[in-house]
Amino acid sequence: MQILKDQSIRPYNTFGIDATAKGLIRVSSENDIYEILVAELSPLKIIGGGSNILITKDLDAYLLKNEIKGIQVIDEDEDRVMVEVGAGEQWHNFVLWAVSHNLAGVENLSLIPGSVGAAPMQNIGAYGVEQNEVFHSLKAIHLEKGTRKVFFKYECDFGYRESIFKYELKDQYFITHVTYILKKNNHELNTSYGAIADVLSENGIKTPTIQDVSDAVISIRKSKLPDPKKVGNAGSFFKNPVISDSKYQTLVGSYPQIPHYPQADGSVKIPAGWLIEKAGFKGMTLGQIGVHRDQALVLVNHGGGAGNDIYTLALDIKAQVKKLFAVDIETEVNIW
Ligand code: FAD
Ligand code: NAP
Repeated sequence: MQILKDQSIRPYNTFGIDATAKGLIRVSSENDIYEILVAELSPLKIIGGGSNILITKDLDAYLLKNEIKGIQVIDEDEDRVMVEVGAGEQWHNFVLWAVSHNLAGVENLSLIPGSVGAAPMQNIGAYGVEQNEVFHSLKAIHLEKGTRKVFFKYECDFGYRESIFKYELKDQYFITHVTYILKKNNHELNTSYGAIADVLSENGIKTPTIQDVSDAVISIRKSKLPDPKKVGNAGSFFKNPVISDSKYQTLVGSYPQIPHYPQADGSVKIPAGWLIEKAGFKGMTLGQIGVHRDQALVLVNHGGGAGNDIYTLALDIKAQVKKLFAVDIETEVNIW
């Protein structure tokens, strides 16, 4: 086990925040985790692609960089394939693997940054699909007791950008492998969300394949979302609030043009980006940090910004949205 000390962790988070940790340890197997536990290093923090964290101070912890790899078919029948994926695989590489094998289920989740191990953590979602729709189970190791546990779907409390690992079991388990069930046959493609149908139609595609949907999502994302290699960010900083219908009726009285998406249970989802834009923050720059000029939901580090300043800006945005619309917006990014 090699502990890298005195290293900047800037390359390991997509916000590009410069900070230090007690040490950085690369983990490429379950045995590596047991070695760390035997050495009684603590506290421990797990990092995958660092695309959903905001580091606000130097970390008084050992950072475990998850590099457990492998994509393995463990079972299949006529219609479905069960695949176990090492948690350190890049999520998008897994999607590309599925698409190249003509397996359906994750094509709408193309080009989401980060690792497979973090996907259940916030139940990643995009373009009308969430990872829990294909999730079967995951393997994890408890970071204090060293015990192994398999979590089945019903034990994970998956919700809108949340799971038991983001709340009750936060920082307790190292997720080492995730098993998904993808479809070979009888699959339906979801092309109704956002601009997918428009892109397919522009390309003259009437009966899209899994590959076509993945390509469409990739091209939309490339055209709309800031690339963390060019400007530091962690995607959507806040979750879209889901409010009661009566609250929505009050809001629409004052803002007839408010975008809204009715939910199955009668509540209404409002895009947080719209609220933030109306509150006047879109494109705001404060020294090296700010709010993206095209995506108000994305906070940015133009280079050399401090995590704590980004967090302060996030709190200002939250307070202003609450004052103007009486709506609470919750942080999606994990604050460290
Ligand atoms: P990290 O940021 O490294 O970690 C996130 C959290 O998970 C941390 O608390 C960490 O401790 C924990 N964690 C990581 N790995 C493990 C593990 N193996 N075991 C236990 N805990 C672990 N998200 C979406 O849902 N949909 C999107 O469309 C989307 N688009 C994005 C676009 C951009 C440009 C960016 C920058 C981000 C986007 N995100 C999106 C957010 C992010 O990519 C996802 O949340 C992703 O799953 C984070 O993976 P990661 O490996 O980078 O996690
Ligand atoms: P968009 O298409 O501009 O839409 C803005 C918001 O409205 C989205 O957040 C989305 O909610 C909601 N929405 C749009 N069409 C909808 C529909 N038909 N039904 C229900 N809700 C709808 O969004 P975008 O910023 O370009 O992102 C596109 C997709 O990628 C979204 O699903 C978004 O969540 C995902 N994404 C996520 C992150 C992240 O970091 N979490 C970053 C970038 C993109 P939902 O977010 O609930 O889908």
